[in-house]
Amino acid sequence: MDVFAEKFADLKILRYDVPGFENLDLRKKLYIYYLSQAALCGRDILWDQNNRYNLSIRSVLETIWKTYKGNRESEEFKLFVIYLKRVWFSNGIHHHYSTGKLPGGFPETYFDELVLLSDWSDFTIPSGKSFEMFISEIRNVIFNPEIEIKRVNLEPDKDLIESSSNNYYQDVSQDEAEIFYAHLKTSAGKEPTSFGLNSTLLKENGKLTEKVWKLDGKYGKAIEQIIFWLTKAKDFAENELQKKTIHHLVEYYKTGDLALFDQYSIDWVKEQEGEVDFVNGFIEMYGDPLGIKGSWESIVNFKDREATKRATILSENAQWFEDHSPVASEFKKAEVKGVSAKVINVAILAGDCYPATPIGINLPNSEWIRERYGSKSVTIENITQAYFLDSVNSGMLEEFAGSTEEIERAKTYGYLAGNLHTDLHECLGHGSGKVREGVNTDNLKNYYSTIEETRADLFALFFIMDVQMIKLGLVPCFDAAKAGYDSYLRNGLITQLTRIESGQNIEESHMRNRQLISRWVYEAGKAKNVVEFVRSDEKTFVRINDYQELRNLFGQLLKEIQRIKSEGDFEAAKSLVEKFGVKVDSTLHNEVLTRFKKLDLAPYAGFLNPVYELKTWPCGTPIDVLIRYDEDYTSQMLRYSRDFGFLPLVN
Ligand code: ZN
Repeated sequence: MDVFAEKFADLKILRYDVPGFENLDLRKKLYIYYLSQAALCGRDILWDQNNRYNLSIRSVLETIWKTYKGNRESEEFKLFVIYLKRVWFSNGIHHHYSTGKLPGGFPETYFDELVLLSDWSDFTIPSGKSFEMFISEIRNVIFNPEIEIKRVNLEPDKDLIESSSNNYYQDVSQDEAEIFYAHLKTSAGKEPTSFGLNSTLLKENGKLTEKVWKLDGKYGKAIEQIIFWLTKAKDFAENELQKKTIHHLVEYYKTGDLALFDQYSIDWVKEQEGEVDFVNGFIEMYGDPLGIKGSWESIVNFKDREATKRATILSENAQWFEDHSPVASEFKKAEVKGVSAKVINVAILAGDCYPATPIGINLPNSEWIRERYGSKSVTIENITQAYFLDSVNSGMLEEFAGSTEEIERAKTYGYLAGNLHTDLHECLGHGSGKVREGVNTDNLKNYYSTIEETRADLFALFFIMDVQMIKLGLVPCFDAAKAGYDSYLRNGLITQLTRIESGQNIEESHMRNRQLISRWVYEAGKAKNVVEFVRSDEKTFVRINDYQELRNLFGQLLKEIQRIKSEGDFEAAKSLVEKFGVKVDSTLHNEVLTRFKKLDLAPYAGFLNPVYELKTWPCGTPIDVLIRYDEDYTSQMLRYSRDFGFLPLVN
């Protein structure tokens, strides 16, 4: 399957594979199918949440796309199409990442021409407006830079609600909203529901009131469909707890009662046995500057058996790794428990997870539920795989890898090495080692997270080249480890600099830790020329001359980092991080930025979903669910608007 689908503006569209879907039994396939239908039904909700004009604008733009009779080959029409594709990608008129309003990108007068030469006979204008009024309002929202400027404003010198153009609050100031919800919170007990999560806050006759998102409330037409498909899905659930989870979710959608949402979340966390899992609801609060309102999203997924096996092998051998780690024996755990990590493949992405998507999930968000019942943390294998496949073809490797041998190794073993690194880091690295009695790791203050990430990375780097990895059947040979070392140093010394602006230092703790490790081993191995910078064609590359010696250096540094954590040695932490992790070599940095710019890569990616088709025979009895990957971006977006567009233009 070709991962790359298309590129426009600052975006690229990729496809993900759903490995193992065909081999699931029919019951699971149907369970996934019905949950996927439920997932797609909430699309309009997110659009309306993002901005009150979004559904109108989408409808106008799509009508033009479908019916415009003018020259569809002109440069201006192409610019119009790019704008439409960007709006689709962002689920509205604001950039999905920066949240600033997308520029129209074509002349305002051209918009009038598009409207004039399109067919509006099937178009339903929101009541109380003439066509001319409606169109001129839409034109103003698209082209006037003074209105609907930013979806989420976080600059504290302005009223965060009035300066944000999302649709969560209507005629309400920040003070009013804060007082409204603070009051609800103080009068709640120790297990407060997520107040305000599922409603629009507005003023009615001068009084604050919530319009709740539920079956007989706001967004009811879409919620009705979600309930319909969830109810169908319930019959195919794998166990009683899954059924109960869906039951609570449906009741919550019917009533809007947030206590039922908590019930759903608790059951959802407890349910660990089934193979299929899903998220569906008003979940993340990033779209609201006050962090109260939940944007609608859904993901349906199932366990990746192979990848979970890999994580399980590591987890079961956790003690062996602890015993053989290079740290001082006084800082080793006598008894270690591996963290069991679940690796999943997504079957559908929807709402706020589509087309831009996270690569991991950690839910629920309710603090007290997390403390009492824990949380589910998963890695999405097929999305990381798609990113990897795209990255090996992006030109980055050819530009920044030092030799054809290195490129080949990366293409063959890079994915395996990357996954093993993550598994070792997450399942074992963070959990390894112990702190000396009486020591508080808070001592390390602002250096703590960099030191902790350094420790987990070094654990992974040290063991990925251990012969035990071959014995456990996790790697076929040391080339996987070599690919891991190549990519780690290439990133830590060179390519991660592409994410830093010229003249800036490194702030983010994962980036600091990667440079710390890479710079430290470079310096420590200088005498033996373990790692060197080489120049060719006025470009700088990293070359590893001695992989075995490099592994020893990783081990030495791990020993020291563990000591720093175990003893809470603030001075040592500070000096290592400041010396190796923070400062950027400005000459190298500028060279890297120039080389990166030439590659002209889209900084943001999103994903197309596969198409699921229910096969029935005879008399509507389902006999299989087919999966296809051939739908293109425009077709998918138009199909979703046609088949899952349940809400009126104004809500
Ligand atoms: Zn970590």
